Amino acid sequence: MKVVETPAPPSAETPPPEVFVEAYPDNEGPRALVSAEPDPGPLAPAAPAPPPLPDRPIAELLHPPPYTVFVDAGHGALDSGAGNGDLAEKDVNVDVATRLAPLLGASGYNVYLSRWGDYTLSPFPENTYENRRDEIQARVDVANSVHADILVSIHFNGGPKSARGLEIYYNPDRSFGQYNWTLADLTRQGLVNQIRSAGYDVPDRGVKNDAGVCCNPANPHSWILGTNDGFR
Ligand SMILES: [Zn+2]
Repeated sequence: MKVVETPAPPSAETPPPEVFVEAYPDNEGPRALVSAEPDPGPLAPAAPAPPPLPDRPIAELLHPPPYTVFVDAGHGALDSGAGNGDLAEKDVNVDVATRLAPLLGASGYNVYLSRWGDYTLSPFPENTYENRRDEIQARVDVANSVHADILVSIHFNGGPKSARGLEIYYNPDRSFGQYNWTLADLTRQGLVNQIRSAGYDVPDRGVKNDAGVCCNPANPHSWILGTNDGFR
């Protein structure tokens, strides 16, 4: 087991987020991801629809352990993600990722993080569509270079109260799409159970096909999970 740090971070000064939305000034209007979803209510059951079973059995897809997990702490540096007052999504994401890494390492996984602090892997002089796209690609390139078996991207949404809850996005359109769904649904079950056992009534928004994120081509979530074919 090992926990390996990705390339050394450059320092970056970032302004605090101003409003409780994803701050992408070059996008048109609010993000459809959070505003177009009806509120299923706190007790609504997830209704995941798994894709067909892959052509190849899992024994042929997997190699012997240890397995490698690439954990992406969403956003970073000038891309703060969602925010509320002084709380920036990018900081919460990296906090979760750096707590998760040693837990996975102790369980026998090789773990790589996209970032351990507030920086990007690619030049990021300003928060633009192109720079966010290139940054996502840089993270996917690292995941591929370390032969990651699993890629998990951590995000926290901001938006209206109707968007409260936990949701897991996965990509069904791969040869191993069924296993993507299985991992997503197990993650959903585990997170919902743990959060509720801690006393929080988190709405279960279910496992979702990341193609449903669409409608906004500038949404980096869909790049990393769906439209980006660079992840092996
Ligand atoms: Zn995000």
